[in-house]
This record gives sequence, structure tokens and C-alpha cells, in this order.
Amino acid sequence: MASKRDYYEVLGVSKNVTQDEMKKAYRKLAVQYHPDKNPGDHTAEEKFKELGEAYDILSDEQKRAAYDRYGHAAFQGGMPSGGGHDPMDIFSQVFGGGAAGDIFESFFGGSRGRGGRTTNGPQRGSDLRYGMEITLEEAARGVEKEVEIERLVGCDVCNGSGSKSGGGTKTCRTCGGVGQVVTSRGFFQVQQTCPDCNGTGQTIADPCKQCNGGGRMKDRTRIRLKVPAGIEEGSRLRSSGNGDAGTRGGPSGDLYVVIQIKQHDVFERDGQDLHCDVPLSYPIAALGGDLSVPTLDGKANVKVPAGTQNAATFRLRGQGLKQLGTDRKGDLYVHVQIAVPTKLNAEQKEKLQDFSKALGDHNSPMHESFLEKAKRFFF
Ligand SMILES: [Zn+2]
Ligand SMILES: [Zn+2]
Repeated sequence: MASKRDYYEVLGVSKNVTQDEMKKAYRKLAVQYHPDKNPGDHTAEEKFKELGEAYDILSDEQKRAAYDRYGHAAFQGGMPSGGGHDPMDIFSQVFGGGAAGDIFESFFGGSRGRGGRTTNGPQRGSDLRYGMEITLEEAARGVEKEVEIERLVGCDVCNGSGSKSGGGTKTCRTCGGVGQVVTSRGFFQVQQTCPDCNGTGQTIADPCKQCNGGGRMKDRTRIRLKVPAGIEEGSRLRSSGNGDAGTRGGPSGDLYVVIQIKQHDVFERDGQDLHCDVPLSYPIAALGGDLSVPTLDGKANVKVPAGTQNAATFRLRGQGLKQLGTDRKGDLYVHVQIAVPTKLNAEQKEKLQDFSKALGDHNSPMHESFLEKAKRFFF
């Protein structure tokens, strides 16, 4: 599949564009690339389509938020194949007010000879997209989870035919079988896909009462999904055939589940590695000793050498996450932070003062390097 251009780039606007500015940007470009103004120009037609799609997504707050978060992945295959964003429909919505009449007159002189775009044949059902939140532990070990979805399935009364008696189709009365209807907007006319037959020119002779002849009905169902160990934030899992049912015998779409991983209290993830900050008492840092640290499986012991400095890092091999599809595992990095006590009693204070006297002024690598660099201030 060809790579898609960023929607903001398509409209030539910045990420924080207001709806008003975006509409203006769309209008300007849509007029420039309108097929009626560029007959036979394939590049212009593609640009016009691209514009319509970008504007359709970004002018809708919800879709825009999803796009900002997931990019094109948010809509990959997720748009209904039949309707969604017909660039012509979007164009007439934006210009529909009549205020743009003068722009139109300059190039809508002739008739709009556009054919229908919908076929009578089988159509594949739409793909669906759902989000699923899992914990870091679940991402590390892999998990089986259920997601509740709403989708269109074949009607159980008419078996998906849409007809009560199985009596077939008749010519659509609204459009007379043409599949297109013409409506007036201000002082020009807009040709649109017939809403009653969806452009097919045919309607069901005796529509099924449950599905109104559509052959499909809404259904809530739970789908079980296997989330593999090592999965990353934003990964998409595909459940084949669990999207909307197709029409006129077409195949079902697919279900896509986008994985979001909850922020963990202790661990931060970097690819397959984990990082965590652990406090270390001053005496153990100075004398050396055992430090108990958390891991995804429980806890582990780190032998801290004498003279450990603040922000020292210890690597625990293989205590990170599994790399997807391999047996390789990442590591856990423990960053120690020397903890300074805050509530000392009289005895502790006295001992610390004695210790300070015994220690002298500069008894650490940090002191030594500091004094070396700053001696002209002190001596
Ligand atoms: Zn039915
Ligand atoms: Zn019709």
C-alpha cells in the first residue's frame, strides 16, 4: 500500500490549526483541484480526493483526536467502504451554504456529469477498531482478554437477504433506478448518491421488518484475544472476519484492537528494557550491602559495593520484557538514589556529628574532583 501523507500537510496547516482556519485552507485548495476545473487531470483528482479525506477527518473533533494520537493507523481500513468520505459530498457540505455562489459560477458553468460509484455486487463489511488497555505485567507475560464490541451481523430473520419472503429486488422509487438524486442548494444543483438505494438503483421488494431490508443488524458480542508477550504500546491486533458483516454476500471486515499499556507505578519501559529508581540508605551506600529491588516477577537482591555513589546504575540481565516472537529478553536497570534522612532523634544526631568530625572535609571522589576544579575559590 502506498504511504499516506500527513493530513495536516495535505491541507497545508499546522497541528494546532483552528477549525475556521482549516476550513479556509480546505476551501482554497478544493477549488484549485476540483475535477470540474481540471477535467481529465488525474493528479488533480487524486489531490482533490486526498483533501476531502483529510478535511473529513480533521474537521471532526473526535476523529481528529484519534488521528493526533494514532496517525493513519486510527482509520486504516476502518472507514466504511461504501460511504464515509466521498470528496464530492464533503465539498458540497463545505460550500453548501450558498455564500460561495460566486466562486461556483466561475467554473460550474456546465453540467456535472459524474457517474455513480456504487455497484450492485457484493460488498465487504467495514473493519472495526477498538482500544484495549493492559498492564505492563500483562504486556510482559502475554494475556488472553475479552473485548466487547458492537458490530453488524447478518440479520437472523431474513438470513441476511433483507427480504421478508426472499422475493428479490425492485427498481428504486426515489431515483427511478438511476442511483443518483439531484438536490438544489442555493442557485446551483448538487448530484448525490440516492439515500434509499445507496446508489444501486434497486431496493428490496418486501423488506424484512427486523433489518429494514438492509440484511444486517447490530449485535454486541465479546471477542477473546490473545495478546502476545512483549507487545508494545500502540500495536494493533487483527481479528480476522470479526468486523461488520458484508452486504449482498460480501465477506466480513476485520476487527483491529489497538493496545494501550497503562503507566506503571514503579517501572518505566524503554523497548524491551525496564528502568526503576530505588532509594539506597547512606550507610549501605558507604559500607556496601544488600539492596532489595522490585522486578516484574517479584523482587531480587542487588549486592551494592562499598562507596556506591548517587545515581549509580545496576543492570539485572534478563529481567526486562521478552522481545516479541523471540526468546530474547531485555534487562532491568536499577538507578539508586541516596536517601537523606529527615527526622533524626537526639542520639542519631549526635552520632552523625561524631561521624562528620571523624570523616573530615573531603572524603569522596566527588569532593576530590570538586576541590581540584574549585581550589582557587578556597585557597
Ligand atoms: Zn432481516
Ligand atoms: Zn435510489
